[in-house]
Amino acid sequence: MTDTPEKINLLGLSPAKMEAFFADLGEKRFRAQQMLKWIHQLGEADFEKMTNMGKGLRAKLAEVSEIRLPEVVYHDVSKDGTQKWVMRMPGGSSIETVYIPEKERGTLCVSSQIGCALDCSFCSTGKQGFNRDLSVAEIIGQVFVAAMSFDKPGERRERKITNVVMMGMGEPLLNFDNVVDSMNLMMDDNAYGLSKRRVTLSTSGVVPMMDKLGDVTDVSLAVSLHAPNDELRNKLVPINKKYPLKELIAATNRYLSKLPDRRKATIEYTMMEGVNDEMEHAVELSELMKQVPCKINLIPFNPFPNSGYKRPSNNRLYRFRDYLVNQGHIVTIRSTRGDDIDAACGQLVGRVEDRTRRSERYINAIQLDNIDSEQTQEGPSL
Ligand code: SAH
Ligand code: SF4
Repeated sequence: MTDTPEKINLLGLSPAKMEAFFADLGEKRFRAQQMLKWIHQLGEADFEKMTNMGKGLRAKLAEVSEIRLPEVVYHDVSKDGTQKWVMRMPGGSSIETVYIPEKERGTLCVSSQIGCALDCSFCSTGKQGFNRDLSVAEIIGQVFVAAMSFDKPGERRERKITNVVMMGMGEPLLNFDNVVDSMNLMMDDNAYGLSKRRVTLSTSGVVPMMDKLGDVTDVSLAVSLHAPNDELRNKLVPINKKYPLKELIAATNRYLSKLPDRRKATIEYTMMEGVNDEMEHAVELSELMKQVPCKINLIPFNPFPNSGYKRPSNNRLYRFRDYLVNQGHIVTIRSTRGDDIDAACGQLVGRVEDRTRRSERYINAIQLDNIDSEQTQEGPSL
């Protein structure tokens, strides 16, 4: 038996923590940068191949640390190029990650928790309840695995992942520190080097954490609204009872005001037939959204067994969108991608054996396409 599990997993060290780690070893700062590059840019997990680190240092590293990757139990590529990975985490539960290629960019949808405690009525991740937070290594490991699938270890890879959205399983603001550290790695020039505009955190509205987020980072923000009034939102997104719309809108504006540029929030609105897709909802939503600089992303409900909700017809979707566009809003309808591999997030996890607790479960159905689909329609600016 080795003592492997107790070794520090360098995969999960943020740039600041990597520096601290090397400082503890009595090494200079540039070693941290070299290590970040080996791991995240070159996909190298073998210390022996890190030739710019001396032999002695490599031996020391192997003694106290390791680069432990997530266990991929499923990977598939859809006809349209969408890719999906299911990764089994220690403990047996699985999470999933989806890559969506488009003409000008490639978006990776990343999970932040196993399950979710917030229990939104239309979300199958919510239906499975909360299991646990993902560690930094488990979050950034999803980016590592996806990035590496485009290249071989040790080679400089093409930058196929241009955008990351924290829209997989879980509420990222409830796993705050690990999500912030992971996003810092995504944006660090020695790691994935993504622009802060191209890393998006999606939240159902954990207001105090939105303020905290604005104090430590300037990533793009997506807010899962789904209803234009408190009465309906209380039913769909229960956290609204704690942080109602007025507070959520104010917190969104506070976040935007801290950004160094004039970025808009993305407002996600999952459309469910007869629930929140009537014209009266469009009217109410339009008024509410005049209070926030935003683009509205309409997400057709992604059905899953026994959800009790239906995806609206295209006519209803377009009618809703057209009203908003005519009112001057920027609106996208999220397109469905990767249907042939169940790439809509969550649909697959339940089919891959889960040894710990839910082998028979057909888990969930988060829609995972890019937040800016090609169907963007811009109205006159507000
Ligand atoms: N917890 C965060 C991020 C993960 S969910 C949040 O709620 O924002 C990512 C997006 O998918 C959210 O907007 C969520 O409301 C939406 N979603 C969840 N279940 C869905 C479903 N069945 N169909 C369509 N969208 C869904
Ligand atoms: Fe959690 Fe987001 Fe699903 Fe709500 S929609 S239950 S916050 S993952």
